[in-house]
Amino acid sequence: MADVRLIACLSDNYAVLVHKDGETILVDAPEAGPINAALAETGWTLTSVLITHHHSDHVQALDEVRGSATVYGPAAEADRIDGLDRTIADGEEFAVGPVKVRAMSTPGHTAGHISYHLPEEGIAFTADTLFAMGCGRLFEGDPPTMWRSLQTLRAALPDDTAIYCGHEYTLTNARYAHDALPADAAIAERLEVVRAARDRKEPTVPTTMAAEKATNPFLRADDPAVAEALGMAGADPAEVFARLRKGRDGFQ
Ligand SMILES: [Zn+2]
Repeated sequence: MADVRLIACLSDNYAVLVHKDGETILVDAPEAGPINAALAETGWTLTSVLITHHHSDHVQALDEVRGSATVYGPAAEADRIDGLDRTIADGEEFAVGPVKVRAMSTPGHTAGHISYHLPEEGIAFTADTLFAMGCGRLFEGDPPTMWRSLQTLRAALPDDTAIYCGHEYTLTNARYAHDALPADAAIAERLEVVRAARDRKEPTVPTTMAAEKATNPFLRADDPAVAEALGMAGADPAEVFARLRKGRDGFQ
């Protein structure tokens, strides 16, 4: 199994290092200082970088950290990301040294957003598509597109997959989930766990697919209980998803 190191960057971004047998993979490059500090502390030499999408808070430190690493990123956003060595298509499976990677196209937040699953390591990187108890804002996609992306992840990732997302938004997501579905005991319980972790300044990432299936309202847009709680019994899941997303947009 790979060694995984979560790196807090900027105000609420996460980058991650995955190290296995001399291979060190960085997922996204928000800020050089903390990433280089983690490399220095571990003694690992960066050999590859996986980029999830073109937003500056995921790519802006690439030049400062990459050294001689090979940089992979979404083919659909290649014209918007400087410095990709290899473009990755939807469904592509490839090896980064000893680490097997499967790319999944998960559009909605951006049009070419990719999530990466490392099946043999039991981890996945969903960046700004699937968050702990939430999902990304729809900058370049409509609700049905994002809902399809979340269904892709839900179907592809085993329950015990450790899921690393791109931001520490979990407390606000948990408060919103509880606000939207106040009678849901699992959500209420997780809100308290998340609040306690954040009070201790601990990260809430990674999460697991099992936890998200149970408590992420956006992954449960096709759960009749969720539709009913929103007064939308029998509605199309994409419409339930759209309602949930719209509510989160204005939630603080
Ligand atoms: Zn983003």
